[in-house]
Amino acid sequence: MSSFSFSLQLGTLMPVLLGVTVVRVLAMWHYAANRRVYPGFRPLMLAALLVFAGMGTLMLRAKFGDTVLLVILTNAVLLGPDVLLYYGLGEYGRVPHLRARTMQNILFIAFVCLVQTVDVVFDPNMVRRVVIFSIAALLLCARIGLELPWRSRRHLPGMRILCFSYLITAGLQVLRGFNALAVPGFTMLTLGQSDVIGVYSVFYRILQSALELYVVFAMNSAMLEDDLMAAKSQIEHMAQTDALTGALNRRGMELLGEGALRRSFASNMPAAVLMLDLDHFKQVNDSLGHAAGDKLLQSVAELCAAALRKEDVFARYGGEEFVVIAPQTELREAGLLAQRIRLAVEGASFEVLGGERVTVSIGVAGARAGSLEALLNSADAALYQAKVSGRNQVVIAVGSGEEAERFVPAGDV
Ligand code: GH3
Ligand code: MG
Ligand code: MG
Repeated sequence: MSSFSFSLQLGTLMPVLLGVTVVRVLAMWHYAANRRVYPGFRPLMLAALLVFAGMGTLMLRAKFGDTVLLVILTNAVLLGPDVLLYYGLGEYGRVPHLRARTMQNILFIAFVCLVQTVDVVFDPNMVRRVVIFSIAALLLCARIGLELPWRSRRHLPGMRILCFSYLITAGLQVLRGFNALAVPGFTMLTLGQSDVIGVYSVFYRILQSALELYVVFAMNSAMLEDDLMAAKSQIEHMAQTDALTGALNRRGMELLGEGALRRSFASNMPAAVLMLDLDHFKQVNDSLGHAAGDKLLQSVAELCAAALRKEDVFARYGGEEFVVIAPQTELREAGLLAQRIRLAVEGASFEVLGGERVTVSIGVAGARAGSLEALLNSADAALYQAKVSGRNQVVIAVGSGEEAERFVPAGDV
């Protein structure tokens, strides 16, 4: 009868952990050299690097025994990765007061090293040192597993799983501490076989290394994607906005305006378009300069925008021409809105003009169906009428589209 047996040998696990750690460090190094990494990536890479130091000190201890220096070193480099991991993950999770928390962790390790030194110098007891180490690791891992997910203000893919995996590490530390107390003649990992939980811990560490590598890249790419999306929406916003006035530009107007019209018509409501043009604006440029003209355009745009509802689409159509697309608006209401804007501009005293007044002519058109282009054409024709009729007035295009177009001054609708 053949039997299959499976046992974990420290002599095999250590080289595997070494190999996995080499791959982990190299992969992270290569990534950091070629791609954008966020704060938190490098501490995590350093944590992986420290694992080598941990293995090195364990080997030195096996050779030279527990000297004070080696005990301090081993405790520092074996607990150090947990502190770096806490810091790195905390950066990714935007944990508040992360530096202060990390400082607590560092001071805690320093305290543990001190206690272990006292043990070695005054009353060397390896079992006690293993228990102290286990308690220290337990506390650090529990902090990673419980505090980080709770304090994180941003949850990235895999982060919680990785934090949770440290609760299992904490559990293994508890078992290892109890095992050290329970087994008579307990010896350390490198010296013998009694530290069975230590062997399982190394095995678990190998699995965790793979998880950690995945999570680091997953978190970093999630951040990259977020940045990309933010940049994309910023570019989209810029592509639709007029830089001078902050109003929509023509492209933005078409995009939002057509949608607003469609929704209006779909709900059987009319919509209106107002086309505004500053009167004798060229004179402002000529007498006060282009910069003053710009300032005036900004102020007029602000004034118009303030008169509108949030569902209205307001855009700078060209040089000193603005357009309002007012969904769910009857022609009469649109005429009143245009008058309100005209009076507001007429009544405003713009600082840049030094007391001079400026006026605006407005053409208005409305429809219950049809294209934005047709409405704009009608409003433009009405605007032309307002200009030729003496400026500073509102003219409404009545019966646009299939009916013959008539123009009437506002108030006559
Ligand atoms: P009207 O009453 O017939 O509309 O006369 P107007 O002078 O306002 O019209 P016109 O079309 O002759 O002049 C518009 C001016 O607007 C000409 C152009 O230099 C100016 N302009 C266009 N874009 C800008 C801009 O971004 N900033 C400034 N300061 N001026 C601009
Ligand atoms: Mg003009
Ligand atoms: Mg013009």
